[in-house]
Amino acid sequence: MIVVMSKDSTEENLEEVRRRIEANSGLKAQVFHGVERIVVGVLGTVPPDLKEQMELLLGVSEVVPISKPYKLASREFHPDNSKVVVGSVVIGGPEPVIMAGPCSVEDEEQMISTARAVKAAGATVLRGGAFKPRTSPYSFRGMGLDGLKLLKMAKEETGLPIITEVMAPGDVDTVAQYADILQVGTRNMQNYSLLDEVGDSGKPVMIKRGMAAPYEEWLLAAEYVLARGNDQVMLCERGIRGFEQFTRFTLDVAAIPVIKRLSHLPILADPSHSTGKWYLVTPVALAAIAAGAHGLLVEVHPNPDLALCDGPQSLTFENFGNMMNQVRAVASVRQDAPVAR
Ligand code: PEP
Ligand code: MN
Repeated sequence: MIVVMSKDSTEENLEEVRRRIEANSGLKAQVFHGVERIVVGVLGTVPPDLKEQMELLLGVSEVVPISKPYKLASREFHPDNSKVVVGSVVIGGPEPVIMAGPCSVEDEEQMISTARAVKAAGATVLRGGAFKPRTSPYSFRGMGLDGLKLLKMAKEETGLPIITEVMAPGDVDTVAQYADILQVGTRNMQNYSLLDEVGDSGKPVMIKRGMAAPYEEWLLAAEYVLARGNDQVMLCERGIRGFEQFTRFTLDVAAIPVIKRLSHLPILADPSHSTGKWYLVTPVALAAIAAGAHGLLVEVHPNPDLALCDGPQSLTFENFGNMMNQVRAVASVRQDAPVAR
C-alpha cells in the first residue's frame, strides 16, 4: 500500500502517518521524497482496515492499495490456472464442463430421465436443488433429504457427479454426504458462516455471484473458503440486478474475462437464472462460452410447463441437445485470452 501525502502536508503529518503504520506489528513505513510530493510505502501484510484509517489522517491525499485484499484467490500469488477435479471431470481446463439438470428435484422419474438425457447430450455433471432458496416462503422449497437421495440414485444410474445447493451451515455435513460439488447460491454469497463450513468440508465448492456483488466481494467470498484450506473452489456468474425487467437478471459477460484476469479460479456461467426465459438460454450460453467460461450451469426439465420451480427458463431435452451442439462449435474456435500483454 502507498500513502500519498498532500502538497501542503507538514512534517508532523508525516510523522503521524509513520507512527500509525508502525503501530501495527510487522509493518514498516518507507518514506520517498519526490519532486512534488512525499509518498510513504507500507511494507508488510496490510491489515484490512488500515487504508480507511490512513485516509482520515491530516495531510494524506490518497491511499493506493498495491496488493489485492483476496490473496489466496488472486492471480498475483498464484499465476497458473487452478483446476477443480471431480472424479474424471476437470473444471478449469480447456474443455467447458456442462452441468445440467432440473432447478429442483421433484421425483424419481424426473431425475433419472433428466440425468440420462443430459448425459447423452454431453453434460458431465448433474444439477438439481433439494434445498431451494425461494423468494416467497409459500413457494416449493425443495424435497430436502429425500431430494438428496434421489440425486444419489440418479448418480448411481448414470455415473454423473452431483452439484446441489446447501443453504445453511448446519446442513453442510448432510449435503456433503451426497454432493460432489457444494453450491453456494447468490443469496448466500456473503453468508460467512456457510462459507467457513463449506471450506471445512473439503468438498469442491461453487460460489455463485451475489446478485449485487462487485468482483472484489465475490472474490473475498472465495477467499473465505480458500482460507479454510479448501482449494477446490470455482465461481459462477449468474447475472446481476439491473434496471431491465424483461430478463430476470443481467448476465455480466465481461465478468468472465475479468475474473480470469484477477483470479486463478475456474469461472462458469449460468444462462438460466440470468435470463429467466428458455429462449434466451442458448444465445447467452454461447456468449459466455465465447467469452472464455470454463463451463455452464443449465436448467433442463422433461416437461418445463409442469416444473415446480423455474419452468419458464428450463430447456427441454431437445433444446438442451441443440444448445450443446452449438456450445461445442463455439468452444472449438475460442482461444484462451492472454492474461498479460
Ligand atoms: C440455482 O442454481 O438453483 C439457484 C437458485 O441459483 P441462484 O442462487 O443463482 O439464484
Ligand atoms: Mn432455478
